[in-house]
Amino acid sequence: MVAANPGRGQVTQRYDIVIIGGGAVGSSIAYWLTRDPSWAGRVAVIERDPAYTRASSALSASSIRQQFSTPLNIHLSRFGIGFLRQAHELLSVEGEPPVELGLREPGYLFLASQAGEAVLRDNHDIQRREGCAVELLEPDALEARFPWIDTMNVRLASHGIANEGWFDGPALMQAFRRKARSQGAVYLHDEVIGLSVEHGQIAAVQLASGSTVQTGAVVNAAGCWSAAIAAMAGIRLPVEARRRCVFVFDCRERIERMPLLIDTTGAWSRPEGRFFIGGISPPEDRDPPDLPLEVNHAEWEELVWPALAARVPAFGAVKVVNAWAGYYEYNTFDQNGIVGPHPEIANLIFATGFSGHGIQQSPAVGRAVAEWLTGGRYSTLDLTPFGFERIAAGRPIIERNVV
Ligand SMILES: Cc1cc2nc3c(=O)[nH]c(=O)nc-3n(C[C@H](O)[C@H](O)[C@H](O)COP(=O)(O)OP(=O)(O)OC[C@H]3O[C@@H](n4cnc5c(N)ncnc54)[C@H](O)[C@@H]3O)c2cc1C
Repeated sequence: MVAANPGRGQVTQRYDIVIIGGGAVGSSIAYWLTRDPSWAGRVAVIERDPAYTRASSALSASSIRQQFSTPLNIHLSRFGIGFLRQAHELLSVEGEPPVELGLREPGYLFLASQAGEAVLRDNHDIQRREGCAVELLEPDALEARFPWIDTMNVRLASHGIANEGWFDGPALMQAFRRKARSQGAVYLHDEVIGLSVEHGQIAAVQLASGSTVQTGAVVNAAGCWSAAIAAMAGIRLPVEARRRCVFVFDCRERIERMPLLIDTTGAWSRPEGRFFIGGISPPEDRDPPDLPLEVNHAEWEELVWPALAARVPAFGAVKVVNAWAGYYEYNTFDQNGIVGPHPEIANLIFATGFSGHGIQQSPAVGRAVAEWLTGGRYSTLDLTPFGFERIAAGRPIIERNVV
């Protein structure tokens, strides 16, 4: 399978499917592809950084919810939570379970001011139609249920009663990777620097090491760097690296049964072990692409802490003990995943652009992309609406619950 290329003196390899990016999404695809013993293809995952120092999957807040406004997002995440509950068995290798994924399910709590009330109600209707266990709480009921909240300016709250919470995202990524390798996926530590397009197909992938990988299909699962991969095939992909900071803080007071709280300002917080974490998606004028991957402490001082302290009085006295920054693979077109083949280069498959909800959707996206690659169609959840065509056609699917 590995041959010397006499022309350049470089190694040429061939894999039926090449996945670019071995984060949670790429590794989930590799897991699902290699899971079926009747499929005899060879899969390579090309990952330039096996330590995942900048990968979103290693820097995520790793939470999962049903409260979306797009039915397909609800269904992707619902499959995700079912998978997480069974991950212990599904991702065991020779009887050895993966590292504990630490799934907790206290729900999400979205708060709406007068300005956001109508959208919250609309979203609630959609969620109920899709079978989500969600309840609306008026301020009095909210206060009775969560007495640590200050209900000032809150008109309505939406609480997820089931199927929402958080888990260890990096552990999920590593568990997918470990299981995929045990099933035969080959991880190449290398960087993709070029794609060869011949007769409207990707014929080969060029690597920084100088080797070439010939292939039948390529999956672009390069996260916030996926636009650079698409550009290698002459394709413009509307996905940018948008920095998101997460602050870890200590609070002396106990807060009972705290769900993942999304304030009216967009600031969010949840428990994390004996601490809490929190953050915010900064306003558009403070959110250019490709900011350095450094924590912006002013964001805590100016945006996150004032909002959280006003909402949860106990957060008035907290101490930040740690912080990190990661990139959303932000789809500037409509903040939804872009999944499936390119309309013109049909053996180039996308799995990117999840805009802050990719790790919870990685189990379902991996399954769907594997179905597409092995059978040419989706056999469980139809992800056609999330295909690239909608971008070419200028038909966004607006997700109104992007955190
Ligand atoms: C602060 C923060 C909070 C988040 N919170 C949540 C949350 O609560 N819930 C949720 O569901 N999602 C959340 N997300 C989003 C989620 O983490 C991402 O959607 C998800 O991890 C994306 O996974 P991925 O595998 O596509 O990308 P990544 O994990 O970034 O993996 C892509 C990989 O591609 C590799 N790569 C890139 N270019 C090349 C190349 N040329 N050659 C070889 N390899 C390459 C990279 O090294 C990287 O390892 C959050 C993200 C951040 C940053």
